[in-house]
Amino acid sequence: GREWHLAARPHGRPVPSDFALVEAPVRRPGPGEILVRNAYLSVDPYMRGRMNDVKSYVPPFAIGAAMDGGAVGRVVASGAEGFAVGDAVLHGLGWREYATLDAAHAVKVDPELAPLPYYLGVLGMPGLTAYAGLLEVGSFKEGDTVFVSGAAGAVGSLVGQIARLKGAARVIGSAGSAEKVAKLVDDYGFDAAFNYKDAPVAEQLAEAAPDGIDVYFDNVGGDHLEAAIASLNPHGRVVLCGAIAQYNDTTPPAAPRNLAAAIGKRLRLQGLLVRDHAALQPQFVAETAGWLKDGSLRYDETVVEGVENAAEAFIGLLRGDNTGKMVVKL
Ligand code: NDP
Repeated sequence: GREWHLAARPHGRPVPSDFALVEAPVRRPGPGEILVRNAYLSVDPYMRGRMNDVKSYVPPFAIGAAMDGGAVGRVVASGAEGFAVGDAVLHGLGWREYATLDAAHAVKVDPELAPLPYYLGVLGMPGLTAYAGLLEVGSFKEGDTVFVSGAAGAVGSLVGQIARLKGAARVIGSAGSAEKVAKLVDDYGFDAAFNYKDAPVAEQLAEAAPDGIDVYFDNVGGDHLEAAIASLNPHGRVVLCGAIAQYNDTTPPAAPRNLAAAIGKRLRLQGLLVRDHAALQPQFVAETAGWLKDGSLRYDETVVEGVENAAEAFIGLLRGDNTGKMVVKL
């Protein structure tokens, strides 16, 4: 089977030559193991950090070795009790066609409940990030005005819609194209949205939120965080989820220059790691699957076809080619 290796560490934006598609032998599963034919691979922004040689909350990819990440697929051979050929599973050995792994590291998923790639998105890691981030970390309550950046992406599109479904007074989103901005209002029910490339974020946010905001869900960092701090009401909350504007930076960022304003406003800026919120998983899946079923939650995917296009899909994700969750279909 084919698998993607890290060929070189990027300087700035990743380029195709940083990746190499390599033919690798497919290992038969031993006792307790399963062999999975992957059906969908996830590409996610956090993988950019793993391409650098720095210690973080996930270890870096090694040069010349297979990359990994979320994937869903079907069991094609099993040496593990409770896993049969044909079972659909979610696991962490993406970026490849075939994966042999300890069955303890795979979770069975129900293809009847939702299409397989949804387990990489709305019912998976990005979905739980949105749900737990808004409700637990952001202490969202009815009547809050919520601003989310990266709002047309996998996490952001769900944050805005969950806020609406849970009774937000006003939901505001930012994204990087006119099409995405239109989608936020027309399809996802945001009250206001703007293209951060059109004019300074601070100006556009102040106009969209004349009475300020109570929760800022930050996927972007930089100017967006600075603008949000300026618009936050006293006792506002910031969910620090990601800072994608800085992932390809080669020099340290300057903004937010107004971080000290968090003191006078008694703001709580709290970091979010989705893995801390696993206990919320059953409640999150039940509630979200219900919203999907009754049509109150809209979910978009951008599907790139072919394992050979996985690196391009990832590069495209960092450039904003996706609306909703970016997945690779094998
Ligand atoms: P998305 O689906 O949102 O895809 C990434 C998007 O980022 C692109 O579509 C693009 O949209 C936007 N983007 C790229 N560059 C910039 C920029 N310079 N300024 C503003 N926007 C930019 O990805 P996810 O939903 O998977 O992830 C969203 C964020 O959440 C990321 O920061 C990620 O790291 C973080 N995250 C954190 C987790 C945690 O546990 N803390 C877990 C999961 C995700 P556009 O066209 O609008 O620019």
